[in-house]
Amino acid sequence: MKLAMIGFGQAGGKILDRFLEHDEQTGSNVVRAAVAVNTAKADLMGLEHVPQENRVLIGQSRVKGHGVGADNELGAEIAEEDIDEIQGAIDSIPVHEVDAFLIITGLGGGTGSGGSPVMARHIKRIYTEPVYGLGVLPAGDEGGIYTLNAARSFRTLVREVDNLLVFDNDAWRKSGESMQGGYRQINDEIVTRFGILFGAGEVEQGGEVAESVVDSSEIINTLAGGGVSTVGYAAEDVSDEKQSSGLLSRFTGGDEQSSLDSASTTNRITSLVRKAALGRLTLPCKIENGAERALLVTAGPSQFLNRKGIERGRKWLEEQTGSMEVRGGDYPVEDSNNVAAVVLLSGVTDVPRIKELQQIAIEARENIDDIRGESEQNLQDLVEDDDDELEPLF
Ligand code: GDP
Repeated sequence: MKLAMIGFGQAGGKILDRFLEHDEQTGSNVVRAAVAVNTAKADLMGLEHVPQENRVLIGQSRVKGHGVGADNELGAEIAEEDIDEIQGAIDSIPVHEVDAFLIITGLGGGTGSGGSPVMARHIKRIYTEPVYGLGVLPAGDEGGIYTLNAARSFRTLVREVDNLLVFDNDAWRKSGESMQGGYRQINDEIVTRFGILFGAGEVEQGGEVAESVVDSSEIINTLAGGGVSTVGYAAEDVSDEKQSSGLLSRFTGGDEQSSLDSASTTNRITSLVRKAALGRLTLPCKIENGAERALLVTAGPSQFLNRKGIERGRKWLEEQTGSMEVRGGDYPVEDSNNVAAVVLLSGVTDVPRIKELQQIAIEARENIDDIRGESEQNLQDLVEDDDDELEPLF
């Protein structure tokens, strides 16, 4: 699937940068255009792979390149004011060559949290291609303001995009790690999952596997209908088997597929599908009767991707999610040493983490209001004398 990716804010920019690196490393060519937007000059300068001419600094007259300091209302205002500058960069995107837009952002900050819904609304008004969001939720220990920002941005962004794919930092952080080191690893996890998902729709169709290869329209149809999505992933190293099946087939003159035990290939795939769906999702949620649509992608060397395994995995997903719309297919990656299953669950509704986030956000809002009220009173008590005998100069 060919995407025009827009990284909004610091997290958005860094994840976009990592997607570009992944594209270069794997040759998957998913990112057809990359634009990074920020109010902080230093964040844009820190990017390594986004072309210089596609880095857009907005809000210069308001914040002078220093960012919005987690004020997402200001982030939204600036995006609205400087939308023409952003559009200038989007104008250079060959939109006829892309299947969809993907706006990537950290929901807890300021620039991306406020700006990405504005951006989504703008793009949707102009283009007919679907506009998806990839929104990152803050970790629980980041504090009340980040949670409040995320809850408000989440609510707004879901409404503006055709589907919001969510990644929850809280479910993925490891204790005892530096933030930077931690983010590098987290961003790798993000790019691995979404890279396989979007890369799947990019395989040239041809040869005998053609009908089972995932097409970008299957990704689009799974995401159609809107709402919130989560992704599961599981992989297994098959390098030893790959080597021995290659040797055996050369020895016997048969093909590599026939030299593999088809029962174990099938079982491997069905168990990978279960692990992917029941393991850690990008947004943890209850899948039982809780997803409207799903897509199963199995990736790896084609001799390991067997039709029966995918069919069984698909059926199992249907039973688990209660969805009648479960699509499935292959993503052959011949030089890979892994067989992987990626499960996209779209239109999920049973998500305790979002309810928890909203609750904490409401409490944070109340605390902030209380503290503001109190500090105004405290300042007044400090500055004015008790009986108001000293009058100000003017
Ligand atoms: P902005 O620049 O004002 O849009 O805000 P940031 O992007 O710096 O931060 C928003 C949120 O994104 C933070 O609260 C973190 O939860 C998250 N975040 C920041 N950097 C990264 C990153 O590199 N990876 C991930 N996964 N999350 C990040």
